[in-house]
Amino acid sequence: MNDDHDEPTTADDDTVVDAADQAHDDDSAGGFAALGLRDELLRALDDLGYEEPTPIQRETIPLLLTGQDLLGQAATGTGKTAAFALPALQMIDPGRRVPQVLVLVPTRELAVQVSEAMFKYGSELGIKVVPVFGGQPIQRQLQALDRGAHVVVATPGRALDHIGRGSLALESITTVILDEADEMLDMGFTDDIESILESTPEDRQTVLFSATMPGRITSIAKRYQRNPQRITIKHNDSESGSKANIRQTVYVVQRAHKPSALGRILDIEAPKAALVFCRTRTEVDQLTVTMNGRGYRAEALHGGMDQGQRDRVMARLRDGTAELLIATDVAARGLDVDTLTHVVNYDVPSAAESYVHRIGRVGRAGREGVAITLAEPRERRGLENIERLTKQKFEIATVPTVSDLRAKQIEMTVNAVREALASVDLEDFNTVFNALAGEDSDRNIALAAIKLVHESRGATIDELEIPDASDRLRGGKHGGDGKKFDKTKQRNTGERDRGGKGKHSGAGAGFVHVSLGRKAGVRPGDLVGAIANETGLVGREIGPIRIADAYSVVGVPEASVEHVIDKMSSTTLRGKRARVRRYTD
Ligand code: AMP
Repeated sequence: MNDDHDEPTTADDDTVVDAADQAHDDDSAGGFAALGLRDELLRALDDLGYEEPTPIQRETIPLLLTGQDLLGQAATGTGKTAAFALPALQMIDPGRRVPQVLVLVPTRELAVQVSEAMFKYGSELGIKVVPVFGGQPIQRQLQALDRGAHVVVATPGRALDHIGRGSLALESITTVILDEADEMLDMGFTDDIESILESTPEDRQTVLFSATMPGRITSIAKRYQRNPQRITIKHNDSESGSKANIRQTVYVVQRAHKPSALGRILDIEAPKAALVFCRTRTEVDQLTVTMNGRGYRAEALHGGMDQGQRDRVMARLRDGTAELLIATDVAARGLDVDTLTHVVNYDVPSAAESYVHRIGRVGRAGREGVAITLAEPRERRGLENIERLTKQKFEIATVPTVSDLRAKQIEMTVNAVREALASVDLEDFNTVFNALAGEDSDRNIALAAIKLVHESRGATIDELEIPDASDRLRGGKHGGDGKKFDKTKQRNTGERDRGGKGKHSGAGAGFVHVSLGRKAGVRPGDLVGAIANETGLVGREIGPIRIADAYSVVGVPEASVEHVIDKMSSTTLRGKRARVRRYTD
């Protein structure tokens, strides 16, 4: 990151924050109180389950509370929103419902995110936050601003529009924050930003955050900031190093789909013992409930547990009574379970070093380990930071589809039966077989037994396709930065995809339309089963599947479309004959 610097504005004042502090620091809960934040904010943070400040928060909050200007270099995922939001909220006079803080952001998405975060942090203070961005009807924004707001979070163009109309008053602004300034400049907002800054009171505090520090940023800082303190999140390279024996995979999904995506991925990975990291205690609790509901034996590990309780939880993971341990970084401190097979980052960790620290818990003593990360599209930069630190490219995998899951479940049942066939005590079960023999064919008796094995392993199918968002990793718009990632887009079917790679080529995929759907009782398994039986395609070549009321659409390899249509016209689904044709839309 430091290579991007052109010329530090105030090199003498430069503070470099070592992001690795976070993983090793021994401050416990209450870390926020030491930063000088007022009780209302501390209560809100506690409700959100934030346990301790991230490095950038620890460094910037006390500084910003003194009113000083700040030029910060930090990417998304480091906790920078709270770093600038908390001090800004603290300095607001809640009794005056006029804009006192203006946050400028590059995109509508970020405007909404920052507004939501500031609203949550300021909930106990009764702070009103209004987001304004292009693309939304201006009327709604005019009404919202008219009702009064303490904080306005805006994209530059729309902010200027409101300033021109007189709907956004700037005379009481005490703090202006530019978030992701480099993105704003890239998007051509330089003039807008300058004229906004020129319209705000001169004695304002100006806070500027940017992931990179090209000359254009430092020159804005020179013109519009007063002796800014400069803070950089530095990477500690000594911690880096690639881990050849750890398979590291990233899945990109929107936040709302994370719980189901995690469930699906773990169903396929079938970990013996996994440690799942969340950012907050609240998230730990919610996810523990969700995963237990999905049939996993999941336990939460809390920072507040005493050593005896922690030891008991770890022992349950070690002896297999628990499969998943869900924890925050703080709670997982000192956790050492040598049977651990998987580490899951439920979010991209806020410091690249914590990623290295977390995944270092698997792959010990030369064993194989797996590190899985769920990322939201906006967390591209966090992923890039980790790639830079570990000097390793992530494999971006596609969230497994229903048919991937089914194929995996079949494979596991086949393996279980195969193992049983090789067992020495097979003859002991002769009595059971003899009791049944003659009642039905040997084949049917075997099928019934297999059904029991399959079901007892919890191999039920969930039918929801989970939208994969890897195409939306932010940055594609700037000349396709996204290409930096190794988007091999493999179906990740657990058993390391032996020989199956590339078969399911997204680009060349064809689709067939089947004239039966939900009303006819059709389920994904029926479609996969019928197509696999009739055509010889394997589960992972079939999908995605969409089942509507009166029809279904199924993805199959383009080269197999005609073959599938041909074979499927002579078969039945749920007892009914289906008409099958190519689907093109
Ligand atoms: P940001 O870098 O501001 O986009 O923040 C990334 C994520 O980290 C957001 O989901 C925040 O809610 C979360 N977060 C920020 N600070 C903390 C903290 N001190 N403890 C736990 N989570 C945090």
